[in-house]
Amino acid sequence: MGFDAPRKSGACSGFAFWRGEAGFPPLADPLQAEILSNPPRRRPKLPPQLITAEADFPQAGSACGKSGLVLKLTQWYHGANMLNITKIEVGAFDTNCYVAWTKALDALIIDPGADAEAISKIISHCRLTVRAYLITHGHMDHISALAPLWAQIKAPVAMHGSDAKWAFGQANQMPPYFSVPHRPENIDRILKGGEKWKEEDFNYEVIDTPGHSPGSVCFYFPDENILFSGDTLFQDSVGRTDLPGGDMRQLTNSLQILAALPPQTKVYPGHGPETTIACEIDSNPFLKIR
Ligand SMILES: [Zn+2]
Ligand SMILES: [Zn+2]
Repeated sequence: MGFDAPRKSGACSGFAFWRGEAGFPPLADPLQAEILSNPPRRRPKLPPQLITAEADFPQAGSACGKSGLVLKLTQWYHGANMLNITKIEVGAFDTNCYVAWTKALDALIIDPGADAEAISKIISHCRLTVRAYLITHGHMDHISALAPLWAQIKAPVAMHGSDAKWAFGQANQMPPYFSVPHRPENIDRILKGGEKWKEEDFNYEVIDTPGHSPGSVCFYFPDENILFSGDTLFQDSVGRTDLPGGDMRQLTNSLQILAALPPQTKVYPGHGPETTIACEIDSNPFLKIR
């Protein structure tokens, strides 16, 4: 698969890959291509009750000195437990890796896609105890730092069985940006969707959302009303369905499941900015497909 190098200049340059924009393979799904050719109308503002704060992590920023990149970190706080969500944009496709942590400093790492060193600096800088790795789907840009992190910081790995089958195989690479991801020694929690986990102060559910990949899932935290949507749902868009195992009809069904969540649910996607279910119902063209 030949295409030009992604440019890191724009905030959403890696996002362009998932939208099939210039320099990347065009979208092979005609419906997706048509919808994305008509940009959505102006978006409503996010509801004001959500607190947003820029983080100050000098150590984490300097952790990326090797590649000359300073990672962008942003933090939010949610709910009575002040669940802290730190977003780190990692790798050639600007994948959003999230570290969610509680007042008691228990942490979950969602989609460690690249830059293991930077992620581990955040964990040590904040003195966090990692309780699990949550994988929204198997694409290499979401799992490439999993094995190197797991080698340093042991915690259960949760991943859908349909993606665990191929995620560490030869097909899941995109040279020169990503080689085949290493498999951690154990994948302790093979997901099917529907699982509910309560561990430490975390309470979350696995929602089965195939379409972008066969084993795509979203992680929903009902107490805080937040959703990690992976590449199933982006602000105003969705993950491409023309990669192996993708299915636009399945994705459309999955989006309808997400649309039934409380409207104020804050959505943290796998690429691009955060949003809410209400905003997406209002302006995401893919949620209007029936
Ligand atoms: Zn993906
Ligand atoms: Zn992705």
